Amino acid sequence: MAASGEKPLDFDPTLPGTAPRAGTLHPITQLMYELNNAFLSLGFEVYEGPEISSEAYAFDSLNFPADHPARDSMDTYWLEGAQDKRGAERLCLRPHLTGASVRYMQEHKPPFRFVYPGRVYRSESTDASHERAFFQYEALIVDQAVPFSSGRVLIDAILERTFGRKVKTRMRAGFFPFVEPGFEIDMQCLVCEGKGCSICKQVGWLEMMPGGPPHPNVFRAGGIDPEKWQGFYINIGLDRIVMMRHAIDDIRLFHSCDLRFLKQFPGVV
Ligand SMILES: [Zn+2]
Repeated sequence: MAASGEKPLDFDPTLPGTAPRAGTLHPITQLMYELNNAFLSLGFEVYEGPEISSEAYAFDSLNFPADHPARDSMDTYWLEGAQDKRGAERLCLRPHLTGASVRYMQEHKPPFRFVYPGRVYRSESTDASHERAFFQYEALIVDQAVPFSSGRVLIDAILERTFGRKVKTRMRAGFFPFVEPGFEIDMQCLVCEGKGCSICKQVGWLEMMPGGPPHPNVFRAGGIDPEKWQGFYINIGLDRIVMMRHAIDDIRLFHSCDLRFLKQFPGVV
């Protein structure tokens, strides 16, 4: 009872409170932060480029031929009015991250080593393993001598950080316009340990990422002399390794905003 003359409280302070609902980081954001921290400790810089790119950065500077199908509107989201323009004037949502590395090269003098995570966009139909927006994580080292084994160290660092244990990898020759020579990097299937299962289509290996030394034309676009400097790129599909990490079977869940899905990855906030 309130004392005489005092206004009674309009709530009961003795009732138990309502616990605030804490949010959690998205599983892709969690891995991105973990990898950023791991690379920062290895002396890398974390760089971000804009999500709106141009034909100049997304294709011309990366040695894509003028008639490459990725330049088509079937694969790339061009901004309104882009059809009549070319090069730096023709704007798009970035279809991959690699254009950001050319921006970085133009703004910095080698030697350098940096990673750059981010969202990319492709105009394609969606299914359990394809989305219109997804995340990539790239790394580039540029120095006077960069052996292929440096790329191997990068890959092993990323996979070990992601899966908490050593993961067997292999490099095969593969063609990508921005690297010369290009590699396709596979990791051993973690489900069957290389014996063959339905996840890896019985081959024991999963294609994970392209990589290789930057093509001399890419160095030139970045203002770097390819005769003096060497480098190594790797480009990871972040969604795909998060799917492997948590045994998620449909990439569309990442953008579903379904709290029942997201609450399964409490992680660290
Ligand atoms: Zn397997």
